[in-house]
Amino acid sequence: MEKNEEFNLTIEDMGKDGAGIGRKNDFVWFVKDAVVGDVITAKVMKVQKNYGFARLMKIITPSKYRTEAKCPVAKQCGGCQLQMMDYHAQLRVKENEVRNALIRIGGIPEEELNMKPILGMEEPWRYRNKAQYPIGTDRDGRVIAGFYAARSHRIVECDDCLLGVKENQKILNLIIGFMEDYHIRPYDELTHKGLVRHVLIRKGFKTGELMVCLVVNGKALPHSEELVRQLLLIPGMTSISLSVNTRTDNVIMGTEIINLYGDGGITDYIGEIKYRISPLSFFQVNPVQTEKLYGTALSYANLKGKETVWDLYCGIGTISLFLAQKAGKVCGVEIIPDAIRDAKENAALNGIENADFFVGKAEEVLPEKYEKENISADVIVVDPPRKGCDQAVLDTMLKMKPKTIVYVSCNPSTLARDVKILTEGGYRLRKVRCCDMFPMSMHVETVAALVKNDTGS
Ligand code: SAH
Repeated sequence: MEKNEEFNLTIEDMGKDGAGIGRKNDFVWFVKDAVVGDVITAKVMKVQKNYGFARLMKIITPSKYRTEAKCPVAKQCGGCQLQMMDYHAQLRVKENEVRNALIRIGGIPEEELNMKPILGMEEPWRYRNKAQYPIGTDRDGRVIAGFYAARSHRIVECDDCLLGVKENQKILNLIIGFMEDYHIRPYDELTHKGLVRHVLIRKGFKTGELMVCLVVNGKALPHSEELVRQLLLIPGMTSISLSVNTRTDNVIMGTEIINLYGDGGITDYIGEIKYRISPLSFFQVNPVQTEKLYGTALSYANLKGKETVWDLYCGIGTISLFLAQKAGKVCGVEIIPDAIRDAKENAALNGIENADFFVGKAEEVLPEKYEKENISADVIVVDPPRKGCDQAVLDTMLKMKPKTIVYVSCNPSTLARDVKILTEGGYRLRKVRCCDMFPMSMHVETVAALVKNDTGS
């Protein structure tokens, strides 16, 4: 087919980036904004060898899964991909993606795949505890907050993202009003002039504590005492700070933090465990679902109280500390030194003494400790980044022969690839459950329990 040619298409599936997928004469088309079940008229945009991209021109018969996007800027903003799809249909799409990957890539026979129903949200809105709003100006020079449009740095004005907390809007309006009153200019990416670049807001869902951090192109904010006075009128305000960022690239946060009020952090809980969160620290953004995800990982670990557990790719130790409550000893491994510092601090904060943390690459630390120190594990938990586990990690786990491997994954394809290696190495995929950490996006998290074949469980 030629560029700009129009044709009718039935959408049969959703792609990883949220585009609808349809097939015509063995050719696959990706159509942005189309929903599985739609019958549409599409226009050819770009053609590759076996697939092409087309634009949605007209919906002939809307899918029964189609719904009105709630957010007025859903189309322009790069944040959400699935707002025009009913939430229950979103959950089905995600679960199917994982099921198909485990069958096709993982080689798991369909009848043996024991998938528990996906853990969705009762209320799939306002779930994020963290927001980062770029600050800029509109065509008339008015100060605005918003989001970058997809694949660009143009700010789409929006001070109330429906995935974020209600307080965000109040805080942003107050900061914008303050900037206008005192003629404080937003940073301009082209000229590198102006002061305020971003506003970071975090909220402790269990404690109600609020953190505001202004990322500034300088070392101070004029009249900051007035801004602090105004922000403190918002209930829950606990920490107000500046992050100094005079760089000219795309990195959002500067590493130097200047506290204007409070000691720089807020506190929140996941389950019974307390965490200190600073402007720079990593913390899961959907605390309600994190509790469900890690609760599932804990139950899949099937701990009785005496086990030795290794938690690879442990981040700030969220899973490690969760498991330490029920295990004999937990050892976490993580590549980022600051995350390990946070993990140790959080262990101390909770009086947890049976957790140890090591900085380094999982694919180096684990084999080295196994060869030199002859470490062992009853349970190994992995929560790798999108590329999955390194082969050396998989090989060492197979040598260590833990009774159970709990695999927490943010990428169904690499989960399935690694599950294949582990099942070929003597493990059986016993349970799988997906958890929806990011409603309205295509992301899906999965917990899988693999048990050693000869353990009989
Ligand atoms: N379970 C963690 C989050 C895991 S996200 C939590 O709840 O906090 C994946 C983590 O793997 C990130 O923290 C990342 O820094 C880390 N990581 C990436 N590559 C790694 C590697 N090769 N070895 C160890 N950790 C790695």
